[in-house]
Amino acid sequence: MKNSNRRVFICQVVTASSAVLATQAMAQARVDEKDAQATALGYLHDTTKVDAKKYPKHTAAQKCANCQLYAGKPTDAWAGCPLFGAKQVAANGWCSAYAKKA
Ligand code: SF4
Repeated sequence: MKNSNRRVFICQVVTASSAVLATQAMAQARVDEKDAQATALGYLHDTTKVDAKKYPKHTAAQKCANCQLYAGKPTDAWAGCPLFGAKQVAANGWCSAYAKKA
């Protein structure tokens, strides 16, 4: 393999690898329950695990999928929420800012 061909090949591999990593990073951009914003809002991925003593108005029927702020379709497993920037929340998640979709 000539040097110039080798250089082109290496550039192609690096470019392709970077694209795959960027796609994976975007797909995995989910809220961490331990993030400062998540803990401040009491966000959990599973609405059934919300502390009933701490949030007495919470019910298991309340979840991100039927919240006004859920940016996806109700059938999407994960979608954006403006309270968490570019990160996604779970359809079955919940936080204390929950507002039932009209
Ligand atoms: S505001 Fe609504 S969609 Fe966003 S995390 Fe809280 S319950 Fe889920």
